[in-house]
Amino acid sequence: MFNASLKQLSDQLAGKKISSTELTTEFLKRIKTLNPEYNAFITVNEDMSLAQARAADGMIAAGKASPLTGIPIAQKDIFCAKGWLTTCGSKMLSNFVSPYDAGVIERFNQAGAVNIGKTNMDEFAMGSSNETSYYGIVKNPWDIAAVPGGSSGGAACAVAARLAPAATGTDTGGSIRQPAALCGISGIKPTYGLVSRYGMIAFASSLDQGGPMAKSAEDLALLLNVMVGFDARDSTSLQRDAEDYARDLQKPLTGLRIGLPKEYFAEGMSGDVARALETALDEYRKLGAQTVEISLPNASLAIPVYYVLAPAEASSNLSRFDGVRYGYRAPSYTDLADMYRKSRAQGFGAEVKRRILIGTYVLSHGYYDAYYIKAQKLRRLIAQDFAQAYQQCDIIMGPTTPTVAFNLGEKSGDPIQMYLSDIYTSAANLTGMPAMSIPVGFGDKNRPIGLHIIGNYFKEAQMLNVAHQYQQVTGWHLQSPV
Ligand code: GLN
Repeated sequence: MFNASLKQLSDQLAGKKISSTELTTEFLKRIKTLNPEYNAFITVNEDMSLAQARAADGMIAAGKASPLTGIPIAQKDIFCAKGWLTTCGSKMLSNFVSPYDAGVIERFNQAGAVNIGKTNMDEFAMGSSNETSYYGIVKNPWDIAAVPGGSSGGAACAVAARLAPAATGTDTGGSIRQPAALCGISGIKPTYGLVSRYGMIAFASSLDQGGPMAKSAEDLALLLNVMVGFDARDSTSLQRDAEDYARDLQKPLTGLRIGLPKEYFAEGMSGDVARALETALDEYRKLGAQTVEISLPNASLAIPVYYVLAPAEASSNLSRFDGVRYGYRAPSYTDLADMYRKSRAQGFGAEVKRRILIGTYVLSHGYYDAYYIKAQKLRRLIAQDFAQAYQQCDIIMGPTTPTVAFNLGEKSGDPIQMYLSDIYTSAANLTGMPAMSIPVGFGDKNRPIGLHIIGNYFKEAQMLNVAHQYQQVTGWHLQSPV
């Protein structure tokens, strides 16, 4: 049951071989046993999950089920869920019980899915190792000495360790794909604007995008079918016709042109990752695809541009946490200004403060043109590189991360090294393009390796097809650490 695909679980529920209450109970038991070791969840609430499971059983009995009805889904603690503690991994929100549901949570609720718990994450989604969480580190289930990646580290760990059949994540610079790669699971960041950001606590609004994390591309398609949709409460939400993201899964890959950016297959990628990628690309050639070398001349600018724009937007977004209306308030202070200062000084962790400082600096009078405006111009150049590249290929592939998971503590003292974790992933956020990671083997210390697949705007169905065809002829996605 713990290794079953979403389709298999859905069939078992529909065929009354198992009830949602039984399924939910089994996963809750597993969480109880394994979570003390992994720390993948911040909040588990058996009563609330089981109430949803009973409601789902009612829907199934009444013949009102859809594919995800009754299936437990782990929700990243960045999504506001009514009645649930919603912390965003921060002391600042350690007392915040959300009075409303995020757009994504609403859609899962309408589909009859069960919220199995809120997953751990880097504080305000800032990080690549889950080490900045106020709720403690998450361990990589393949090797508890390793980080799970971040910021959606709890989500990736939960899916890899089979604590939940699937999870949600959010991705501002790589936070779905990098932890998916390091934990050996599949994850997709959709085209910017497809998944509602309403009730998804904002980090950098022009980059943030929610998406699913699961064992396989086929599962991701079912999850996207629920998650994607217009939401008038998010001003950047896109109004488009509904798509079935599973519609192209079975298409053959004959003639597919895979672009390999020469800048990504250069120094920086470790030997084990390079070898796993080569083997995966051979598999794609056997499936009928051809590879073409392409160039993304501005690839090396993605990290510096991201680390100007993301902190700039974060410094603005995080100004709402002032201790007045909700969230943490310092227990003692002298006057209003002192209350702001102390609440923010005590409520935010070191990495969040670093981002607020950088963001405030690059937006300040005198530096705005030199940093913020310059970064916006470079962002456009990066997008132009991709537009050019797509004239020569249908899809782009490369490594998701330069190395396998690093050790806990290895980079936490060196922010620049940590920031380089997203060297291959952040361009897709800057351009708004969809991108995903799928497992393609194991490297150093037997830790998982991810293949990064970048698609053109709205090509999610094609990307899932490309990933699914690979998963039909290989078994990496079926392996689990426990
Ligand atoms: N690791 C990147 C950062 O720290 C990306 C995080 C994310 O995608 N939320 O900002």
